[in-house]
Amino acid sequence: MECDPTRVCELLVGLGDVEVLGVDDEAGVPLRVHIRRRAPRPACERCGGPLWSDGERSVELVDLPAFGRPARLVWHKRRWRCPDRGCRAGTVTEQDREIAPPREKLTTRAGRWTTRQGGRGRPLGEVADELGCSWHPVNASVRRWGEALLEADTERIAQTEALGLDEHLMWRRGRFRTKAWATGIVDVGRGQLLDIVPGRTAQAPTRWLLARPRSWLAGVRWAVLDLSGPYRSAFEVALPHAKQVADPFHVVRVGNDALDEVRSRVQNQTLGHRGRKHDPLYRARKLLVSASERITDSGRTKLRGLLDAGDPYGEVRDAWHAKETLRSVYDIDDAKVGAATVAQLAADLQDPGLPTEINRLGRTIWRWRHQIANWHAARVTNAATEVANNLIKRVKRAAFGFTNFANYRIRALLYAGRPNWTLLDTLTPT
Ligand SMILES: [Zn+2]
Repeated sequence: MECDPTRVCELLVGLGDVEVLGVDDEAGVPLRVHIRRRAPRPACERCGGPLWSDGERSVELVDLPAFGRPARLVWHKRRWRCPDRGCRAGTVTEQDREIAPPREKLTTRAGRWTTRQGGRGRPLGEVADELGCSWHPVNASVRRWGEALLEADTERIAQTEALGLDEHLMWRRGRFRTKAWATGIVDVGRGQLLDIVPGRTAQAPTRWLLARPRSWLAGVRWAVLDLSGPYRSAFEVALPHAKQVADPFHVVRVGNDALDEVRSRVQNQTLGHRGRKHDPLYRARKLLVSASERITDSGRTKLRGLLDAGDPYGEVRDAWHAKETLRSVYDIDDAKVGAATVAQLAADLQDPGLPTEINRLGRTIWRWRHQIANWHAARVTNAATEVANNLIKRVKRAAFGFTNFANYRIRALLYAGRPNWTLLDTLTPT
């Protein structure tokens, strides 16, 4: 039994008006602190009459470590029974959210602490070890407190002027390593991850957007996307007034992809095999997709030599010029000039004298010409979604066992979604 008054006080911080009945202090097992609330006898909630005591029921809760050891709080909950035969209140057990929310396995203070640890990206298995319990109650607690925090934090999804959608890989699962995708919804102006929805189709983002208040939707001026049809239709349905902007990074990437396709086809046609270490086009592959202004003079000479050796019909050169011209669209300052240049480029690339891969690139640019040109007026990109994705990757590394979308979403939003943590101390989950 623990009798030192200062130590007993430390065990009681934040629990409200409780008395310590005793402390089991056995070596090798968590410290067990027995408490009972000091509260007046309540009246019956149904009939208002006096209640009779119906004994106690004790629940054991995982608590914060105390004195460097895992601890349990054994709460001797009082039970009450209404003696009135006409009243159907029956027996009730006392509740107190200051100690623990109903059905929780962790105390309130342990639940809040655990949620903060999860929010810092700490592996929950490690947190569970520190608490001396298994992973499941810890995860359940982070889910419950985390969801309550995100729901209470209404300021987090502030008025958004530029909204971005971007896909990212959640995990691979099963025998065939099937990929599971998610869509990040990001305020790309503020760099704020707003939410994560499952899949990369139009359905989930559309539903998320349509659940926002009308005034919020009306305030979104720019809708940023990669060159993805599903996101385009999500925006067309939910944000018809917003101007769509193609993310420059993705636009340049389709140019690089087309160049890569031409390179490997020409490689195959001229040498009859896929690229090998000493093949000129294979050696040129990195220089080709580099930004031309970053290539040194010697790199330029090397590239010219490799193309002379490996590109007999100049197809790779054509593809390289197409890619560089596409990149140069982003050097244009004037929005009107930008729009005209994009349209002209899309038409030029469809010239039948060019490789078919480049013709296809031209058709893609034509299909997205308005979205590509809108960048000149909007000057927004999806770079913030990349930042969010990189943060999420860290959570994924800390919790390699993600196979459940709801767990994944909460952990990612707590870590990368910048919730207002001060609210956590003011709320309890329902
Ligand atoms: Zn009653």
